[in-house]
Amino acid sequence: MNVKFKEILINELEEEIKAAKLIDPQELAKQIKEIGFKCIMCGKCCRREFGDNRVVVIPDEIHRIQNNSDLEWNDIAEPLNIEADTPEEECYLQAGSGMIDEYGNIHTFGWMLHRKENRDCSFIPDEVKNNRCNIYELRPLLCSTYPFYMEDLKLQTSECEGLGENISEHDSKKLSEMLINRYLGELQDTILTYRNYEGFETDEKSREKAMSNLKQGYLNYVVHNSEGTCKITKNI
Ligand code: SF4
Repeated sequence: MNVKFKEILINELEEEIKAAKLIDPQELAKQIKEIGFKCIMCGKCCRREFGDNRVVVIPDEIHRIQNNSDLEWNDIAEPLNIEADTPEEECYLQAGSGMIDEYGNIHTFGWMLHRKENRDCSFIPDEVKNNRCNIYELRPLLCSTYPFYMEDLKLQTSECEGLGENISEHDSKKLSEMLINRYLGELQDTILTYRNYEGFETDEKSREKAMSNLKQGYLNYVVHNSEGTCKITKNI
Protein backbone atom coordinates (compact mmCIF):
# COMPACT_ATOMS: atom_id res chain seq x y z
CA MET A 1 0.00 0.00 0.00
CA ASN A 2 1.71 3.22 -1.09
CA VAL A 3 1.59 6.40 0.99
CA LYS A 4 -0.85 8.18 -1.31
CA PHE A 5 -3.31 5.27 -1.37
CA LYS A 6 -3.05 4.97 2.41
CA GLU A 7 -3.94 8.67 2.81
CA ILE A 8 -6.92 8.29 0.47
CA LEU A 9 -8.23 5.37 2.55
CA ILE A 10 -7.71 7.27 5.80
CA ASN A 11 -9.49 10.37 4.44
CA GLU A 12 -12.44 8.24 3.37
CA LEU A 13 -12.64 6.67 6.82
CA GLU A 14 -12.45 10.08 8.50
CA GLU A 15 -15.36 11.26 6.37
CA GLU A 16 -17.29 8.12 7.31
CA ILE A 17 -16.66 8.85 10.99
CA LYS A 18 -18.00 12.39 10.60
CA ALA A 19 -21.13 11.02 8.93
CA ALA A 20 -21.49 8.18 11.47
CA LYS A 21 -21.49 10.71 14.30
CA LEU A 22 -24.64 12.20 12.78
CA ILE A 23 -26.58 8.92 12.85
CA ASP A 24 -29.73 9.44 14.87
CA PRO A 25 -29.78 6.75 17.61
CA GLN A 26 -33.57 7.06 17.93
CA GLU A 27 -34.06 6.38 14.24
CA LEU A 28 -31.65 3.44 14.40
CA ALA A 29 -33.51 2.07 17.43
CA LYS A 30 -36.75 2.34 15.43
CA GLN A 31 -35.24 0.27 12.62
CA ILE A 32 -34.03 -2.36 15.09
CA LYS A 33 -37.48 -2.51 16.66
CA GLU A 34 -39.09 -2.97 13.25
CA ILE A 35 -36.74 -5.83 12.34
CA GLY A 36 -37.09 -7.41 15.78
CA PHE A 37 -34.68 -9.68 17.61
CA LYS A 38 -34.38 -11.94 20.62
CA CYS A 39 -31.39 -14.14 21.43
CA ILE A 40 -32.70 -17.71 21.61
CA MET A 41 -29.40 -19.02 23.02
CA CYS A 42 -28.84 -21.38 20.07
CA GLY A 43 -25.08 -20.72 20.21
CA LYS A 44 -24.86 -20.85 16.42
CA CYS A 45 -22.92 -17.57 16.20
CA CYS A 46 -20.31 -18.95 18.63
CA ARG A 47 -19.83 -22.47 17.23
CA ARG A 48 -17.94 -23.20 14.01
CA GLU A 49 -20.14 -26.02 12.73
CA PHE A 50 -22.90 -23.51 11.89
CA GLY A 51 -20.72 -21.18 9.80
CA ASP A 52 -18.13 -18.46 10.06
CA ASN A 53 -17.88 -17.71 13.78
CA ARG A 54 -14.80 -15.46 13.74
CA VAL A 55 -15.32 -12.52 16.11
CA VAL A 56 -13.27 -9.49 15.15
CA VAL A 57 -12.06 -7.76 18.27
CA ILE A 58 -10.12 -4.49 18.57
CA PRO A 59 -7.24 -3.93 21.02
CA ASP A 60 -9.35 -1.64 23.27
CA GLU A 61 -11.77 -4.51 23.81
CA ILE A 62 -8.99 -7.03 24.42
CA HIS A 63 -7.54 -4.71 27.10
CA ARG A 64 -11.01 -4.31 28.65
CA ILE A 65 -11.42 -8.09 28.93
CA GLN A 66 -7.84 -8.46 30.20
CA ASN A 67 -8.29 -5.75 32.85
CA ASN A 68 -11.46 -7.32 34.19
CA SER A 69 -10.40 -10.96 34.25
CA ASP A 70 -7.33 -13.09 34.81
CA LEU A 71 -7.08 -13.82 31.09
CA GLU A 72 -3.90 -13.02 29.16
CA TRP A 73 -3.92 -11.41 25.70
CA ASN A 74 -3.21 -14.74 23.98
CA ASP A 75 -6.08 -16.43 25.84
CA ILE A 76 -8.44 -13.78 24.49
CA ALA A 77 -7.26 -13.09 20.96
CA GLU A 78 -5.42 -14.56 18.01
CA PRO A 79 -4.46 -13.10 14.60
CA LEU A 80 -7.54 -12.40 12.46
CA ASN A 81 -7.11 -15.15 9.95
CA ILE A 82 -8.78 -16.61 6.89
CA GLU A 83 -10.90 -19.75 7.29
CA ALA A 84 -8.90 -22.78 6.15
CA ASP A 85 -9.43 -26.44 7.01
CA THR A 86 -5.75 -27.22 7.51
CA PRO A 87 -2.56 -25.18 8.16
CA GLU A 88 -1.29 -26.33 4.74
CA GLU A 89 -4.40 -24.88 3.09
CA GLU A 90 -3.93 -21.71 5.10
CA CYS A 91 -0.36 -21.30 3.75
CA TYR A 92 -1.60 -21.93 0.24
CA LEU A 93 -4.43 -19.37 0.48
CA GLN A 94 -2.34 -16.73 2.25
CA ALA A 95 0.49 -17.08 -0.29
CA GLY A 96 -2.08 -16.74 -3.08
CA SER A 97 -3.23 -13.44 -1.57
CA GLY A 98 0.34 -12.18 -1.22
CA MET A 99 0.10 -12.24 2.57
CA ILE A 100 3.27 -14.23 3.31
CA ASP A 101 6.51 -12.28 3.44
CA GLU A 102 9.98 -13.21 2.24
CA TYR A 103 10.75 -14.89 5.61
CA GLY A 104 7.61 -17.05 5.63
CA ASN A 105 5.68 -14.87 8.13
CA ILE A 106 1.92 -14.73 7.56
CA HIS A 107 0.64 -11.13 7.72
CA THR A 108 -2.82 -10.38 9.05
CA PHE A 109 -4.77 -7.21 9.88
CA GLY A 110 -6.18 -7.13 13.39
CA TRP A 111 -7.42 -9.71 15.88
CA MET A 112 -10.23 -12.12 16.42
CA LEU A 113 -11.41 -13.91 19.55
CA HIS A 114 -9.37 -16.96 20.37
CA ARG A 115 -10.90 -20.23 19.23
CA LYS A 116 -10.55 -23.81 20.48
CA GLU A 117 -9.04 -26.59 18.41
CA ASN A 118 -12.49 -27.40 16.96
CA ARG A 119 -12.72 -23.69 16.09
CA ASP A 120 -15.61 -22.97 18.46
CA CYS A 121 -15.13 -19.70 20.35
CA SER A 122 -12.93 -20.31 23.39
CA PHE A 123 -15.61 -18.83 25.64
CA ILE A 124 -18.49 -21.15 24.75
CA PRO A 125 -18.72 -24.20 27.05
CA ASP A 126 -17.67 -27.56 25.61
CA GLU A 127 -21.05 -29.17 26.36
CA VAL A 128 -23.09 -28.64 23.18
CA LYS A 129 -26.33 -27.96 25.03
CA ASN A 130 -24.86 -25.20 27.17
CA ASN A 131 -24.56 -22.02 25.15
CA ARG A 132 -23.99 -19.60 28.00
CA CYS A 133 -20.98 -17.38 27.18
CA ASN A 134 -18.27 -17.68 29.83
CA ILE A 135 -17.40 -13.98 29.52
CA TYR A 136 -20.97 -12.77 28.97
CA GLU A 137 -20.59 -9.47 30.85
CA LEU A 138 -17.24 -8.78 29.16
CA ARG A 139 -18.00 -10.07 25.66
CA PRO A 140 -16.96 -7.83 22.76
CA LEU A 141 -19.40 -5.44 21.07
CA LEU A 142 -19.62 -7.67 18.01
CA CYS A 143 -21.19 -10.32 20.24
CA SER A 144 -23.46 -8.01 22.22
CA THR A 145 -24.78 -6.34 19.05
CA TYR A 146 -25.07 -9.54 16.99
CA PRO A 147 -26.83 -10.08 14.53
CA PHE A 148 -26.76 -6.34 13.75
CA TYR A 149 -23.87 -4.34 12.34
CA MET A 150 -23.33 -1.05 10.51
CA GLU A 151 -21.88 -0.79 7.03
CA ASP A 152 -21.72 2.31 4.83
CA LEU A 153 -23.79 4.15 7.47
CA LYS A 154 -26.61 1.62 7.16
CA LEU A 155 -27.98 -1.02 9.51
CA GLN A 156 -27.29 -4.58 8.35
CA THR A 157 -28.11 -8.00 9.75
CA SER A 158 -26.31 -11.33 9.76
CA GLU A 159 -28.08 -14.65 9.60
CA CYS A 160 -29.75 -15.42 12.93
CA GLU A 161 -32.73 -17.45 14.09
CA GLY A 162 -33.68 -14.78 16.64
CA LEU A 163 -34.41 -12.12 14.00
CA GLY A 164 -38.07 -11.12 13.73
CA GLU A 165 -38.77 -11.75 17.43
CA ASN A 166 -40.26 -8.99 19.53
CA ILE A 167 -37.76 -6.55 21.09
CA SER A 168 -38.60 -3.92 23.70
CA GLU A 169 -38.09 -0.21 23.09
CA HIS A 170 -35.53 -0.15 25.90
CA ASP A 171 -33.47 -2.97 24.35
CA SER A 172 -33.70 -1.43 20.86
CA LYS A 173 -32.31 1.84 22.22
CA LYS A 174 -29.54 0.06 24.09
CA LEU A 175 -28.60 -1.91 20.96
CA SER A 176 -28.68 1.24 18.84
CA GLU A 177 -26.23 3.01 21.18
CA MET A 178 -23.91 0.00 21.30
CA LEU A 179 -24.00 -0.33 17.50
CA ILE A 180 -23.00 3.31 16.99
CA ASN A 181 -20.18 2.94 19.54
CA ARG A 182 -19.00 -0.22 17.86
CA TYR A 183 -19.12 1.38 14.40
CA LEU A 184 -17.14 4.45 15.50
CA GLY A 185 -14.64 2.32 17.44
CA GLU A 186 -14.02 0.02 14.49
CA LEU A 187 -13.58 2.92 12.04
CA GLN A 188 -11.15 4.66 14.38
CA ASP A 189 -9.25 1.43 14.93
CA THR A 190 -8.96 0.86 11.16
CA ILE A 191 -7.55 4.38 10.69
CA LEU A 192 -4.88 3.73 13.33
CA THR A 193 -4.08 0.36 11.74
CA TYR A 194 -3.55 2.03 8.35
CA ARG A 195 -1.39 4.73 9.94
CA ASN A 196 0.85 2.09 11.54
CA TYR A 197 1.08 -0.13 8.50
CA GLU A 198 4.46 -0.08 6.80
CA GLY A 199 4.09 -2.90 4.29
CA PHE A 200 6.28 -5.98 3.73
CA GLU A 201 8.12 -7.75 0.94
CA THR A 202 7.03 -11.02 -0.54
CA ASP A 203 8.80 -13.32 -3.02
CA GLU A 204 8.21 -16.53 -4.98
CA LYS A 205 9.58 -18.66 -2.11
CA SER A 206 7.26 -17.18 0.57
CA ARG A 207 4.92 -20.17 0.72
CA GLU A 208 7.80 -22.64 0.76
CA LYS A 209 9.30 -20.83 3.76
CA ALA A 210 5.99 -20.87 5.64
CA MET A 211 5.61 -24.60 4.81
CA SER A 212 9.11 -25.24 6.10
CA ASN A 213 8.13 -23.56 9.41
CA LEU A 214 5.03 -25.72 9.46
CA LYS A 215 7.12 -28.89 9.07
CA GLN A 216 9.00 -27.81 12.19
CA GLY A 217 5.69 -27.45 14.03
CA TYR A 218 4.94 -23.73 14.01
CA LEU A 219 3.73 -20.78 11.93
CA ASN A 220 4.79 -17.17 12.43
CA TYR A 221 2.30 -14.34 12.16
CA VAL A 222 2.78 -10.59 11.92
CA VAL A 223 -0.36 -8.79 13.06
CA HIS A 224 -0.80 -5.22 11.81
CA ASN A 225 -3.13 -3.45 14.19
CA SER A 226 -3.98 -0.12 15.77
CA GLU A 227 -1.25 -0.55 18.41
CA GLY A 228 1.53 -1.25 15.90
CA THR A 229 2.89 -4.53 14.61
CA CYS A 230 2.98 -7.67 16.69
CA LYS A 231 4.79 -10.93 15.96
CA ILE A 232 3.22 -14.17 17.18
CA THR A 233 4.39 -17.75 16.88
CA LYS A 234 1.67 -20.38 16.87
CA ASN A 235 2.62 -23.97 17.59
CA ILE A 236 0.78 -26.27 15.24
S1 SF4 B 1 -17.46 -14.31 23.39
FE1 SF4 B 1 -19.27 -15.33 24.09
S2 SF4 B 1 -20.94 -14.50 22.82
FE2 SF4 B 1 -19.01 -14.02 21.79
S3 SF4 B 1 -18.68 -15.70 20.32
FE3 SF4 B 1 -17.60 -16.23 22.24
S4 SF4 B 1 -19.06 -17.48 23.42
FE4 SF4 B 1 -20.21 -16.40 21.81
